[in-house]
Amino acid sequence: MGRREQGVSDQKPPLRLANSLILLLTPFLALVAVPWYGYRVGFDLFEWSIFAVYMALTGLSITVGYHRLWAHKTYKGHFVFRLCCAIWGACALQNSIIHWTSDHRNHHRFVDRDERDPYSAGRGFWFSHMGWILRRHESAKDDFSNVKDVMADPVVQWQHKYYLPIAGVTNVVIPLLLGYWHGNLWGTLLLAGLLRLVLNHHFTFLINSLAHIWGRQTYGLDNTSRDNYFLAFFTYGEGFHNYHHRFQWDYRNGIKWWHFDPSKWVIRLSSWVGLTYRLKYPSPYKVEQARLQVDYDRALQRALSDGERQGLQDCYQALRSALEALVTFQQHLNKKDITVKKEQAKLKADLKHQRRAWREVSKLAA
Ligand SMILES: [Zn+2]
Ligand SMILES: [Zn+2]
Repeated sequence: MGRREQGVSDQKPPLRLANSLILLLTPFLALVAVPWYGYRVGFDLFEWSIFAVYMALTGLSITVGYHRLWAHKTYKGHFVFRLCCAIWGACALQNSIIHWTSDHRNHHRFVDRDERDPYSAGRGFWFSHMGWILRRHESAKDDFSNVKDVMADPVVQWQHKYYLPIAGVTNVVIPLLLGYWHGNLWGTLLLAGLLRLVLNHHFTFLINSLAHIWGRQTYGLDNTSRDNYFLAFFTYGEGFHNYHHRFQWDYRNGIKWWHFDPSKWVIRLSSWVGLTYRLKYPSPYKVEQARLQVDYDRALQRALSDGERQGLQDCYQALRSALEALVTFQQHLNKKDITVKKEQAKLKADLKHQRRAWREVSKLAA
């Protein structure tokens, strides 16, 4: 868990009034007005469809755009793609790209350090979920020195300058116009404007709060992040958060094809038509090395004797080297060369053997 370090004052910092009003009033309004209107007037298929489209556009613009494109640079995006993410990301009312990416990079860099991680899980569920946004905390002060590369993007500059008008048009004007065109002004605004905003806020916030509390630590034990399959369904695939903290430059969060990660699918599908390109991801052998490191650390803790520990260490080193050999090999691969193919087959056979040996030894320590 996070450590309460020097620099975290016990005195409450001043309120951020606009943030507090939006984040506290909108859930209250949604809880009262949406059921009331649904009971009195009802919502039709058109209104629910616009709600679904808005949920997808705003949620994915945050995960695909704000998070994986700008904060982590896991791939590159065409101008049109970036513009779309900037407009619908602003609609999510999570601040401009510059603010968001700066906070998020600090979260990764100083994760769990209460005085520097803007939403440190060590300061409790409420703080990491939304408490950090309501007050002017020192740990989340505006300093954009870590996002100079992001600020060089003209789309980002434009969104920062016109953030409020874009947010106003997408949140209020467009739902009202759609409602007017449909013949019912308020239904679309209540669903696509209000309810969508509240759900979208809290689904995103869950990644900072629950994804640091609930789930498995498969790829790293050095921070509180967790992999949580259940959460992935609500967060557009961002529930594989322990993996993400280990390989933050990977455009995917769920790495298996069956992992629910719509953000990954959007980025991949968009690459087929040139909207995204240079998608980054690590060698599967590197990923296996990370898992092995966690398994090894856990097995060492369970080992009862020096002899057992030595056996674990030898086996771990051998498997690690076999994986490393394949990582290096892949980097210089020329698939047409027949001798290269033979060499690769040999390395894979060795890896298989070392994996089996590791399974045996780590089972003994279980
Ligand atoms: Zn995190
Ligand atoms: Zn991240």
